[in-house]
Amino acid sequence: MRDSAAMAEILCLNAGSSSLKFALYAEPGTDEPSLLASGKIENIGLEPHLIARDAKGDVLAERRWTKDGTITHETLLEDLLREIEASVGDDLIAVGHRIVHGGTDYSAPARVDAPLLAALEALCPLAPLHQPHNLAAVRAVSRLRPAVLQVACFDTGFHHGQPPIATRLALPRALGEEGMRRYGFHGISYEYIARQLRSIDPDTGGGRTIAAHLGNGASLCAMAGGRSIDTTMGFTALDGLVMGTRCGALDPGAVLYLFQQRGMTAREVEHLLYSESGLLGVSGVSSDMRALLGSETPAAGEAIELFVWQIARQAGALASSLGGLDTFVFTAGIGENSPEIRARVAGRLGWLGVDLDADANLRGDAVISAPSSRVAVRVIPTDEERMIAIHTADLLREEPKA
Ligand code: ADP
Repeated sequence: MRDSAAMAEILCLNAGSSSLKFALYAEPGTDEPSLLASGKIENIGLEPHLIARDAKGDVLAERRWTKDGTITHETLLEDLLREIEASVGDDLIAVGHRIVHGGTDYSAPARVDAPLLAALEALCPLAPLHQPHNLAAVRAVSRLRPAVLQVACFDTGFHHGQPPIATRLALPRALGEEGMRRYGFHGISYEYIARQLRSIDPDTGGGRTIAAHLGNGASLCAMAGGRSIDTTMGFTALDGLVMGTRCGALDPGAVLYLFQQRGMTAREVEHLLYSESGLLGVSGVSSDMRALLGSETPAAGEAIELFVWQIARQAGALASSLGGLDTFVFTAGIGENSPEIRARVAGRLGWLGVDLDADANLRGDAVISAPSSRVAVRVIPTDEERMIAIHTADLLREEPKA
């Protein structure tokens, strides 16, 4: 099955609560990493299902586990490493991880060691849905493959150079000094988009750009010349747009109401805001955009309308931060695949100079704006795993040779 016996590999992991996404790359030397396989284990905690495909999309491995108390995230990771070694390559030299929060101290991708792990652990309350799972995968790899270099890539990192005014919360200064500030997330995705824009247009990198990462989590990023200057997510990944199950921007008074008038506990409020709100909460039908678009229920229609309205409303705010708009990019599951949502968002941004080419949008072309549009509108598939592989390869090159 293998034709790459002597090849060293980099594995990229994006570990969540119920899924583990992965991509395996050939160690690229000085070139762009080349994809060997990718896939995910879904439905963790219930009946996990692994599917791995090669670079052409052909299935390399598929496996199902029945519900069983002995199956944990770590045993699944161990099984995944074995599957990869059996079907693709057995010379794993590094693992790159998507880590949601790097706090104030960590922005650049970093080699994982005990002090870094402890610092990242302390940030779990700021990303309770993601950070604990990200770090559990790091610890599991340390146990399963102790000799392998591990690299942490931070979703907050790309936003670190933002102007201070974009990061400040209007709270007493002492809280800001404690780390209560806007961080922003989806940075690995936005860094990849900025890189693509730079290769499409080396002179301006897209100029004044708003990138819309619209997946289960959703946010916008304002980029000037490829650098983040503002974004809709803030102190946590709850802020900003309406998401699959997260509320997005919310009057803090609403949170006080839940505590004071409804007598809810902190855990209950956390669950409500992270897991029961957003598209799911408003529609009462689903967190999944495809399901909502296929639903006849009026509440599903209203959830979609609120999603679109908030994107346009917050894009207006980011256009103000940028002082105008040259490029608008759609990416991630909804942005890459839904002509309807793209058309509805673009329809609300006409005043900024956005004018879609309806046929190009339906086809999902790379450029979906009309030739006369003042703003270039693009669809760019994101590739967070590739960005992680690039950073991991860079750090590998800096490692002293044994
Ligand atoms: P994640 O944030 O978990 O990585 P994705 O980026 O894969 O998620 O995005 C998942 C979202 O994309 C879901 O709401 C899904 O319904 C939506 N999606 C995927 N394909 C389509 C499509 N063809 N039309 C509309 N929505 C889609």
